[in-house]
Amino acid sequence: MDTRIRIFDTTLRDGEQSPGAALTAEAKLEIARQLALLQVDVIEAGFPISSPGDFLAVKSIAESVRGPIIAGLARTKDADIDRAYEAVKGASKPRIHTFVATSDIHMRHKMRVTPSDVLAMTEAGVRRARSYVDDVEFSAEDATRSDPGFLCQVFQVAIEAGATTLNIPDTVGYTTPAEFQRLIHHIRDRVPGIGGVTLSVHCHNDLGLAVANSLAAVEAGVRQVECTVNGLGERAGNTALEEIVMALMTRKDHYACSTGVVTEQLHRTSRMVSALSGMPVQPNKAIVGANAFAHESGIHQDGVLKERTTYEIMSPQSIGLSSNRLVLGKLSGRHAFRERLHELGLTLDNQALERAFVRFKDLADRKGELGDSDLEAIVQEEIQGVPEVYRLDYFAVTSGSTAVPTATVALTSSNGRVQEAATGDGPVDAVYRAIERVVNSGAALSDWSIRAVSGGQDALGEVTLRLTHGRHTYLGRGVSTDILEASARAYLSAVNRLAQAPAIKTPSQSG
Ligand SMILES: [Zn+2]
Repeated sequence: MDTRIRIFDTTLRDGEQSPGAALTAEAKLEIARQLALLQVDVIEAGFPISSPGDFLAVKSIAESVRGPIIAGLARTKDADIDRAYEAVKGASKPRIHTFVATSDIHMRHKMRVTPSDVLAMTEAGVRRARSYVDDVEFSAEDATRSDPGFLCQVFQVAIEAGATTLNIPDTVGYTTPAEFQRLIHHIRDRVPGIGGVTLSVHCHNDLGLAVANSLAAVEAGVRQVECTVNGLGERAGNTALEEIVMALMTRKDHYACSTGVVTEQLHRTSRMVSALSGMPVQPNKAIVGANAFAHESGIHQDGVLKERTTYEIMSPQSIGLSSNRLVLGKLSGRHAFRERLHELGLTLDNQALERAFVRFKDLADRKGELGDSDLEAIVQEEIQGVPEVYRLDYFAVTSGSTAVPTATVALTSSNGRVQEAATGDGPVDAVYRAIERVVNSGAALSDWSIRAVSGGQDALGEVTLRLTHGRHTYLGRGVSTDILEASARAYLSAVNRLAQAPAIKTPSQSG
């Protein structure tokens, strides 16, 4: 049997449905480029009919990212499939991924259709997709709560209509490893022609079983696993890409399967997705958490120093975790800066590159030398792709244990330069109140966190925050050697997003 497991990444589609995650078109393109470096097999770039913004993001990824198959999601409706094809047709390897729900609960309450309607929808959707592309994936949404006999009927229809990959989603994270294996064996035994298509799974993590269920599925003969970087996704998220890949690699003795993923790119991919989505990675997260390779106990440290494999089953190098190399300083020029970004696989257009270079010089003047993770943080600030409606010109803060924190800020916009001052509960609050006096966004701060980009006392600080305005949330990020400046930049980047009134994301209904 084939021992190659295809890694289908859906960070840009299911991952982007994470509550609070918001990716701009530029950020999606940057992540897609990184996924190509990681050498995943399939990138699900979005759900083209869900919004004009999503359509354009899928289209630009299909046209410019080479290597992986580029998939677009579609319900079985004609308009969905047509739109998905328009979005992915520029790819060298386009895929249309169509889905319909097959459980009684979904058929009765969500779609209000009968099982025979669903068979007809499957047939029509797959056939139409197949009229456009040779590579068609079909998903039976909520498969694990569907009647197994009916599920087999639906899959048989999908194969006859031309589907080349059949996906079995555990849409609500309900199944267990042994139960899931029984379902997969049942399908493999009953559906005629199943041997000629790729079987796939898509697991959610509501009970913390997404990775375990996916690995159980591999043991049952599944050859494509759908997953997301850092396990992002609806509710508790999806199968974490880095965990699946490293489990298959570390326990090759057990699974006897391999992936095509360049594992040395895992850590960077994780950091990029975390920074651009504003979704932090918990320190004790497997593989990519800050503590994943940290040894605290003296006995463990002693053991690892004597022989690494005493307490480490993987090496930090295997996921690309190296020391933060100090590479560039304030004397480094534009050329060296661009070269290093190129080596890191980071691409910026000329304008963004110029802005990033100015930021780099400014920070290098204050910090001395900057490492790779510092450069990544600066660049990620630029590729948020938010036009600067307001720009921070200047700020000053007075604060202390007895003084009332007071901030003065000067902002420039198309209306010229405006200066305001305000007091607050603390210095960050004072800065935000002063900014609000200029911009009048009316938004409320709903989340604020800071992390050090690299180690050491002179590390760059990265502030991530969210502003809530009506029903919408806007992500802001800012990087600086000064945490108040990072805070101000983060606030302004969220305000600039709000001021752009971006296309409103329609909630999708896929599993
Ligand atoms: Zn899902």
